[in-house]
Amino acid sequence: MKKTVSFSRNATNVFFHILTKCNLNCSHCYINQKQHGETILPLSTIEAWLELFSKKSDNANVIFLGGEPTLHPALPEAVKKARKLGYKSITIDTNGYLFHDILSRITPSDIDFISFSLDGATKETNDSIRGEGCYDTCVKGIYEAKKKGFNTSLIYTVSGNNINELKLMPPLLEDFGIKEFFIQVIGIRGNSAEDDSGNLQVSKKLWQSIIPEVAEIVAESGINVTYPKVFLEEDDTFECGGLVADNYFIFPNGRVYRCPLCEDFPVHAGMIENNILIETPKLNENDFFNLSVPEGCVMNKMIQPDNLTYNQQGVPEYQIACCLLKERIEKE
Ligand code: SF4
Ligand code: SF4
Repeated sequence: MKKTVSFSRNATNVFFHILTKCNLNCSHCYINQKQHGETILPLSTIEAWLELFSKKSDNANVIFLGGEPTLHPALPEAVKKARKLGYKSITIDTNGYLFHDILSRITPSDIDFISFSLDGATKETNDSIRGEGCYDTCVKGIYEAKKKGFNTSLIYTVSGNNINELKLMPPLLEDFGIKEFFIQVIGIRGNSAEDDSGNLQVSKKLWQSIIPEVAEIVAESGINVTYPKVFLEEDDTFECGGLVADNYFIFPNGRVYRCPLCEDFPVHAGMIENNILIETPKLNENDFFNLSVPEGCVMNKMIQPDNLTYNQQGVPEYQIACCLLKERIEKE
């Protein structure tokens, strides 16, 4: 069953970057150490911040991110603390290197999903984006996790460099034993903001000719698929997730953003100081969310407008959805 997932007004989603360090340097990496520092959060701080955000809702989900979160030696303790605090779902997003023997230090009951990132169906394409040897390591990690009984998901970040390989993914996902497939769209931030090839963002036509069809094929094999809406149709209503959803993108220097497209700039809506979340003074990202532009998402227009087209009168031909708005196809 296909449905557009409205913003979760009754759930809190905590995207927790516990460090920014990574063993890789992917060409599209969105992590920006100039903005978010190089701190590796001590376990006591991770625990305090988990507690802070668990109180936001009875329905809170946490995703541990980095950098590469398994580089943090205390990730298993952090996961277990999240479970104790009652987080509804707990996920680790990993590049597949699975440092510090993570699969032996947590059990499938400690965590809901281990989510792997692969950006190509072939070694050539994936490794040209993520680095030599990443494909084999990630695939090995997926099989290891599956063998130990963990639920696994896979994230494929689509850009002009790999969209044509998405069609090759369905049989691979079945082989891997993946339960959830997340298609992401490239964001022009971090390393991608330095890329001047003009190849990263894809047109509406190309996106719509590939993504929905692949998603249907994957879902037919019993794997749930989530992908961003990106391009709104005439009868869709634009909504900014920054105004209606309860998402927190937390960085180890204490910055808390409500919109991921803002992360390259010091416009975070919140700051954690002494383990208390405080609002940052104006101007901050909250002030952008109310701006109404005919192109839909205001941040998209400002930082990544290459996915927009205009008619001869200069009117946008469609609106860009909030990057947090997703389509989801669930197995019947
Ligand atoms: S995209 Fe992820 S795996 Fe790649 S360099 Fe950035 S943090 Fe590391
Ligand atoms: S991506 Fe655009 S629409 Fe979504 S929260 Fe950010 S500014 Fe708002």
